[in-house]
Amino acid sequence: MLDTKSYFGYEKFTYERPFDMSKHSSIGCGGCARIAFYPSSLQEMVDLLSKFRKDSQQFLVVGNMTNVLPPDEGIEKAVVCTKKFSGAQADSQRSTNVFVEAGMASGAFLRFCCDTRKSGAEFLEGIPCTIGGALYMNAGVNGRYIAEIVDSVTVWRDGKVCILSNAECEYAYKNSVFMHNGDVILGATLRLRTTDIQTIDDEIKKYRDRRAHLPKGKSMGCVFKNPIGYSAGELIEKAGLKGMRIGGARVSDIHANFIINDGNASAKEIKNLITFIKNTVQAQYKIALEEEIRYLT
Ligand SMILES: Cc1cc2nc3c(=O)[nH]c(=O)nc-3n(C[C@H](O)[C@H](O)[C@H](O)COP(=O)(O)OP(=O)(O)OC[C@H]3O[C@@H](n4cnc5c(N)ncnc54)[C@H](O)[C@@H]3O)c2cc1C
Repeated sequence: MLDTKSYFGYEKFTYERPFDMSKHSSIGCGGCARIAFYPSSLQEMVDLLSKFRKDSQQFLVVGNMTNVLPPDEGIEKAVVCTKKFSGAQADSQRSTNVFVEAGMASGAFLRFCCDTRKSGAEFLEGIPCTIGGALYMNAGVNGRYIAEIVDSVTVWRDGKVCILSNAECEYAYKNSVFMHNGDVILGATLRLRTTDIQTIDDEIKKYRDRRAHLPKGKSMGCVFKNPIGYSAGELIEKAGLKGMRIGGARVSDIHANFIINDGNASAKEIKNLITFIKNTVQAQYKIALEEEIRYLT
């Protein structure tokens, strides 16, 4: 087990110690992990994950930390931050396919798409994710989800690099096989179309404009999934919870499915507000809200 004194064999990896999750997460709360590693190539990812496996070291993987609630007490596990593992390249076999490494930010990926005239991923505009986080969460907006452009996903599973077909990713609304099996997403081949730059720019602008109304401030985006046939935000609003506050955690006045950290909210306050919202909606509408956000443990 890695401890604060002994990092023998891990010196070659770039790391941050301790890793203050309140500074790295978009919700701006949570304690520290002992150490976070920043692998920057497939070889480094594989070397690090192989070493963890050999040492029986527990770990968790994060992208841009925009859909996670880290605990106040911190975590013992080592953290793998993918952000520096962030290249993209056109597929040499099929010109419309691109391979993207897990840590590439959506904004950087869209710039790559503009440079290479690739269309189909514009709906990722403004989602503050890495591609790995988006593949894990099946991120999307307005009925468009990343699953629809996935050709295959490359993962680390049982000590090996494997390539999964789209079907093997078991994508569904805000769901993927990765939420259930502990695979580490290394990257994906995405199926795009070749088009002209103006079309891509216009499409990106369309999605950017649609997001202009979203709440500003520290948040995790939408906290709850939409129950079938309902909007979670509307249910929360109708239950009279807009503006409801516990400590520094507040239900947004603009979009009731967002919880805003108004300053120094603790993860506990945010969790208590989530529980309060769930109980209220259950009591008033007999509908069980389910979290979209992931609790880091
Ligand atoms: C202001 C705001 C707006 C948002 N708008 C949207 C939106 O419109 N649509 C939408 O879908 N989401 C939205 N989100 C939520 C969030 O951006 C997405 O869920 C995104 O996909 C998370 O990506 P990430 O890189 O931040 O992942 P993280 O938050 O770092 O991680 C999310 C989960 O994925 C796991 N994970 C991350 N990378 C890997 C990997 N390489 N291998 C294995 N597991 C991994 C983590 O362990 C964690 O469980 C929004 C969030 C914010 C703050």
